[in-house]
Amino acid sequence: MKIIALGIESTAHTFGVGIIDSKGIVRASINNVYIPEVGGLHPVQVREHHMNNFKEIILKALRSAHISLNQIDLIAFSQSPGLGPVLKIGALIARTLSQLYDIPIVGVNHCIAHVEIGRLMCKVDDPLTLYVSGGNTIVSAFESGRYQIFGETLDLPIGNMLDSFARDAGLTHPGGPKIEQLALNSKNYLPLPYVVKGMDLSFSGLYTATKHLIMAEEFNKKYNLEDIAYSLQETAFAMLTEVTERALAHTKKEEVLLTGGVAANKRLQEMIEYISMEHDAKFHVVPLKYAGDNGVMIAWTGILQYQARGGDELDQTIIKPKERMDNIPIPWRSE
Ligand code: AMP
Ligand code: MG
Repeated sequence: MKIIALGIESTAHTFGVGIIDSKGIVRASINNVYIPEVGGLHPVQVREHHMNNFKEIILKALRSAHISLNQIDLIAFSQSPGLGPVLKIGALIARTLSQLYDIPIVGVNHCIAHVEIGRLMCKVDDPLTLYVSGGNTIVSAFESGRYQIFGETLDLPIGNMLDSFARDAGLTHPGGPKIEQLALNSKNYLPLPYVVKGMDLSFSGLYTATKHLIMAEEFNKKYNLEDIAYSLQETAFAMLTEVTERALAHTKKEEVLLTGGVAANKRLQEMIEYISMEHDAKFHVVPLKYAGDNGVMIAWTGILQYQARGGDELDQTIIKPKERMDNIPIPWRSE
């Protein structure tokens, strides 16, 4: 039987509402992104933003799908991981709708949702996934019933690091796309810290080094911002590529999926595509609309979860800001 799910994304800057059916047809995708005027994301400000906007976003999504809440069969929400105060808003709205309209509810892990929407949109079955965003940097693949993590950042997520550097350089948020444009104008590589520990990555030393380059006396004499942007991308993306390649060699997966907001970067795509080809794996980039945070990925993963193990009881819908994707069994997939 076909079911229709409404998914609520609320882990960080995006408040998203997606509506999709169990055949994988997207009925609506409305996302509203909070952009800080200065500095990074303050959980309380993001919470206020989501509080002020959620009603409008839900109504817009329902209107766009030409559907009413009575026709929704499942409410899914992002339960983990993310900023506590922000996760709470999504959970509260989901619980309220579930109880008022007597609709089953499921809590979804945001990182798993990125993989599942990627599998759906790119029509891939069993990929190795590089998920790179403002809040996450994870190399994962399905093994032994779970999405195992083969590599991850030990400190800053890649997108956060790019945005922080951009802020120091006087560029507006989000910094990633601006760094990509600047980097196109340079081939002058400045040596920077390259830190891969086992299968994990550390970006904080790299970030600090670029900050020093901006403040140094030689800045705008011996090198410029374009050279730093280029060197930063080459170093950070080579680190990501090394770890992804080793995970690919280990898992022998035949498909590679690149997702998250940073997946938009053409240079990163080029590097990951190159190592995919070297290992005879098919390379896919998740379409931009579904690579960034969105409500559809939560709704879709909610359907998979609900069909495999039913809805959650209310006391199971508590938020889990730190929960890892490899902690969660994936009963909808077989070995
Ligand atoms: P997300 O957290 O998935 O919504 O992705 C947002 C992150 O993606 C921010 O850190 C952006 O700076 C980054 N981003 C977006 N476009 C690009 C790009 N073309 N190159 C590098 N980073 C990007
Ligand atoms: Mg995300």
